[in-house]
Amino acid sequence: CGIVGYIGFRRAAPVVVNGLKKLEYRGYDSFGIAVNNPKMQVFKKEGRISKNEKAASRLPGHIAIGHTRWATHGIPNDINAHPHQDCTKKIAVVHNGIIENYAELKRQLIGRGHTFISETDTEVIAHLIEEAYKGDLQAAVYQAIQYLQGSYALLVTVEGEDKIVAARDSSPLVLGVGDGEFFAASDVTPLLEFTERVIYLEDGDLATLTPEKSEIFHNGVPVERSIELIDWSI
Ligand code: GLU
Repeated sequence: CGIVGYIGFRRAAPVVVNGLKKLEYRGYDSFGIAVNNPKMQVFKKEGRISKNEKAASRLPGHIAIGHTRWATHGIPNDINAHPHQDCTKKIAVVHNGIIENYAELKRQLIGRGHTFISETDTEVIAHLIEEAYKGDLQAAVYQAIQYLQGSYALLVTVEGEDKIVAARDSSPLVLGVGDGEFFAASDVTPLLEFTERVIYLEDGDLATLTPEKSEIFHNGVPVERSIELIDWSI
């Protein structure tokens, strides 16, 4: 129901956990965070953030993605909480939305030898990225989303690459632009204390974030999206 990502010079986990708390008003049943440090570490729990905030914030590292879940497929529990991972556990994915064709994709992936842990629609995305991954996360995410029908805002990170890949279709996603840092979130509220420069992604956009820059593609073609200033005087 809410997602937050951070890459930059700060410790990423507290930024993401605090950001998730700012999205609490949207409602949620569980939360989780993955830190790419450079090994992938995942912490996820059913229930309120405040109960497990310290443990989640303690994870070290400068790249993190986090999620507050409003369950659509699979009951609210620790296993179905996001982030979701592939078989190698090197990839982590957070997802807002619904993958309508997940059952068919899951059947095919199981047929090709993938083992599923959760009951969510989201987990298929991690396994599709795993299959497509040949050392270039952006290319793998682009390939994987071609199979998806439904709605998604996604953040993805992988061990061995210092980046976050974001993608959206029919679910909101906004980037926060800092100096030597980037943020991503489902709305601007988690970004406001850090930056007033934002980029609203459009349906079909995919963005690759490093601490220094964002590169945005629309249906695979590089595009420029304007940086907007959040105007507090309105
Ligand atoms: N459909 C996904 C799930 O049930 C994501 C739900 C959400 O947007 O929080 O896990």
